[in-house]
Amino acid sequence: MLELVFCTNNDHKINEVSQIMGTQFSFLKLKEVQFFDDIPEPFETLEENSLEKAQVVHHFCGKNCFAEDTGLFVEAIDGEPGVYSARYAGEPTNSEKNIEKVLEKLASKSNRNAYFKTVITLIIHGEIKQFEGICKGTIAMHKQGSDGFGYDPIFIAEGYSKSFAEIPAVEKNAISHRKKAFDRFSEYLEGL
Ligand code: IMP
Repeated sequence: MLELVFCTNNDHKINEVSQIMGTQFSFLKLKEVQFFDDIPEPFETLEENSLEKAQVVHHFCGKNCFAEDTGLFVEAIDGEPGVYSARYAGEPTNSEKNIEKVLEKLASKSNRNAYFKTVITLIIHGEIKQFEGICKGTIAMHKQGSDGFGYDPIFIAEGYSKSFAEIPAVEKNAISHRKKAFDRFSEYLEGL
């Protein structure tokens, strides 16, 4: 079986990807390859940051690996928080404060369109491949629900009235940005 390291310390992402990919697919966690550092996200695009994460781990352990970087892009505030989604309200990452900042900035705006975008970088047998997934929706007027993580309580996917934090995880994982990106990723792996 193909051995791949998932370059993330985010347990929410690990749970979602496990559910999306199913039991046919397994991956190594960072601690299983003795990688215990935080991985920096120094660039201005999701593509560069996910590449950086994958390359840092690949250089460290020499194994095939994949990383993903995700951002929430809100139309009326010029695509903020975008690539800065994790530390929008400063460091260390605080989802409550990040959400408050988005809601404050949108308070006087009628356009609440937004989308999540995920970019996966796969390093396999020395080759680099990228896969993206986008999920369109709107930003709620206030927090709704307590499931999920990050910006889920304020993101309502197109065609829904409930936020990602109010719908069951299986439903989020059937329509999300992460699902779309990982479908392309698994299609590629199946073709190898
Ligand atoms: P990163 O990809 O780990 O840099 O995550 C960027 C930011 O977006 C973090 O604050 C996450 O909590 C948030 N985020 C990533 N994926 C999701 C998601 O599926 N729903 C809600 N927030 C997310």
